[in-house]
Amino acid sequence: MTRQNNEDVIEVVIVPRRNSKAICSGCANPGARYDSLGTRRFEFIPLWGYKVFFIYTMRRVNCRSCGVKVEQVPWGNGKKELTTTYMQYLASWADKLSWKDVSRRFNTSWEKVFSAVEFIVDWGLKHRSLEDVQAIGVDEVAWQKGHNYLTVVYQIDRDNTRLLWVGKDRTEATIRRFFEFFGPSRSGTLKYVCSDMWRPYVKVIGELAGQALHILDRFHIVAMLSKAVDEVRAGEHKQLIADGYEPVLKKTRWCLLKRKENLTEKQEVTLKTLLQYNLKSVRAYLLKEDFNGFWDYVSPHWAERYLDLWCTRVMRSKLKPMKKVVKTIRRHKPLILNWFKAKKAYSSGIVEGLNTKLKLTTRKSYGFRTYRCQEIALYHTLGRLPVPQMTHRFY
Ligand SMILES: [Zn+2]
Repeated sequence: MTRQNNEDVIEVVIVPRRNSKAICSGCANPGARYDSLGTRRFEFIPLWGYKVFFIYTMRRVNCRSCGVKVEQVPWGNGKKELTTTYMQYLASWADKLSWKDVSRRFNTSWEKVFSAVEFIVDWGLKHRSLEDVQAIGVDEVAWQKGHNYLTVVYQIDRDNTRLLWVGKDRTEATIRRFFEFFGPSRSGTLKYVCSDMWRPYVKVIGELAGQALHILDRFHIVAMLSKAVDEVRAGEHKQLIADGYEPVLKKTRWCLLKRKENLTEKQEVTLKTLLQYNLKSVRAYLLKEDFNGFWDYVSPHWAERYLDLWCTRVMRSKLKPMKKVVKTIRRHKPLILNWFKAKKAYSSGIVEGLNTKLKLTTRKSYGFRTYRCQEIALYHTLGRLPVPQMTHRFY
């Protein structure tokens, strides 16, 4: 136990076994000793609230294949101040808490927590397997208060769902970068690709994974419908106030957007009352609800008929935002109907689940100014990455 920066710390001095050969950090083979470097400190998991440091004099080896190299030590990496075990320990806490909370709890800096998570993520990315990916989902997410976008690609196979890739922006170049990373042979054997209607995605997916069944997932279409209903409601609400009517649409946003089974009791009452009015918002809401019937079809043929009828009704509704949705639906009809062909092959709805989790992560990490932090946090929480094996389980 010694004192350092006004706190007691535990120092563990490590010396190599006599006659032991140092391991070359270049090729992992033992080599002849060349010389010794200065003493280094490696931070380990704290014990009873005390910081723990390994103190070790690093040797250099004269390696036959690599030349003079620093030795490799089992508890850490030549450049990092933290031991691998400690980094893994911090990273596992960063799964549950924000990075700030982790740094507070372990009396360390935010930068060290970041560096720990970054190390674990890089290790995981290097060691993960990308074989047997048959279904992927491509999506865009707003971040930094909606000023910027990220493109995310998930694996959405039934037995394996995880984040595969994150890229800055949502341009054609972004999605091309994904396919470049994924490689032409893997891309060429994909069976299902799910995406939203964002044009650059649709275009590049068709070009680079044309053999796959391209599906516009239910989640994206429902989201588009909800947005249209909300637009109708917001416009009508303003109009009612401007015309001096009772603002019956006040605080009704979620009643109209949520699924019926998710409404609170109070919202249910509000909705019931609202449905008695002859309002544009109510008509839009009912059209959106009717669309749910579409997904119950088994046969693509009957589903298409239902869709056509629904579209005709909406076009007569005089609800501009809803009519806009119909235009988009008509333009993408084959991709929407592909949903019925793929219905059981990939885990539908999984994109929605992953997206919810992703948004939680971006929100939890709103302190992240840089793209790099965001990227690391997303891989960490959603990538299901492998971790280095530890000699001892600490948690
Ligand atoms: Zn070597």
